[in-house]
Amino acid sequence: MMKNKLSALAFAAGGLISMGAWAQADVALWRIDCGTGEKPTAVNERFSDTLAFPGLNLTFTFSCYLIKHGDDYMVWDTGFAPGSNPNAPKTALADYLAQVKVTPAQVKYVGISHFHPDHTGQLAPFDHATLLIGKGDWDGINAKPPMASANVAGFDRWIVEGRKVEPLTLDKDVFGDGTVMVLRAPGHTPGHSMLLVRLKDKGAVLLSGDAVHFHENYDSGGVPSFNFDRAQTAASIERLKKLAANLKATVVIQHDMRDIDKLPTFPTAAR
Ligand SMILES: [Zn+2]
Repeated sequence: MMKNKLSALAFAAGGLISMGAWAQADVALWRIDCGTGEKPTAVNERFSDTLAFPGLNLTFTFSCYLIKHGDDYMVWDTGFAPGSNPNAPKTALADYLAQVKVTPAQVKYVGISHFHPDHTGQLAPFDHATLLIGKGDWDGINAKPPMASANVAGFDRWIVEGRKVEPLTLDKDVFGDGTVMVLRAPGHTPGHSMLLVRLKDKGAVLLSGDAVHFHENYDSGGVPSFNFDRAQTAASIERLKKLAANLKATVVIQHDMRDIDKLPTFPTAAR
């Protein structure tokens, strides 16, 4: 028991040290289109549990990201599968990767912010990757019956083929040098996560996952009615804001169209 506690503490401290004393490897970040809202969403109805935005309509975008670290690749969120619904992208994520000469088999990690279908529609091609997912979400996928709103079908290759999974209970320093970190940000779902990418020229970039869905909710600390745990979501938004301030980071709200051009247009990468 004592030993477990100590090793947990050592592990947590290791995470903190690497986050502070990071070394700069060659890191690049691409934003990839993984869907566009067919029509605007009346956000007051589903995306504000305090009904803060009457009359506000926003067209959501669905974003995927490719990260290069040295010779290794990681994908963050996989959007909708092409053709799966009216919001789905026209071009498959794997076809975008081909444009920058990356094959799915080269992808070492596929990280997802959470288990909803608009983030997990194109997991299947990454058959060599270790899936990085918050443990709360992985447990929700595997529960009998699965948690409501968990896109179990998206994970079917991982379940059927027993592909590699790392269910995360803490932040994950993906490449061990602090440049790419999966950050715990529970609330939207039990195992929801965000991603920090530290680039040499652009500096720190925080990819929100669905900790927030649009600027107005970020600015006001707003919580969707469609949400797992309100207090956790509020705390995760606070974490995001404090990290953004302390690292002078670019915050990219993944579903907000207004944040698309915070990163270069594909196939150009931020570096
Ligand atoms: Zn989403």
